[in-house]
Amino acid sequence: MRCAICGEPMDVQIDRWLQTNDGGAVHLRCADREAQHVWQLRCLLAIGHLLVITIVSSALIIHVGVVERSTTFHLECSPSLRMEGCQVSFEAGMCSVL
Ligand SMILES: [Zn+2]
Repeated sequence: MRCAICGEPMDVQIDRWLQTNDGGAVHLRCADREAQHVWQLRCLLAIGHLLVITIVSSALIIHVGVVERSTTFHLECSPSLRMEGCQVSFEAGMCSVL
């Protein structure tokens, strides 16, 4: 019988081994090494996803902030604008709240 992971022969009386779902067998050390490798890959994928989420959310926050700031600037610098009970006037390049 050969290990399904490394392909080396197994002595079922001496080696510690596991039976696979498809009827094969693997060394316990090979299965453990493979599980650690898959775990490391999953950790790297999780870190990659975290970086992508961070970059996208930062880009969205920056974009929304720029849009909100430009909207605010536009509203504050309109020639005359009444908002929520107060009046904003624009004279000689200066904005003021009346
Ligand atoms: Zn093996």
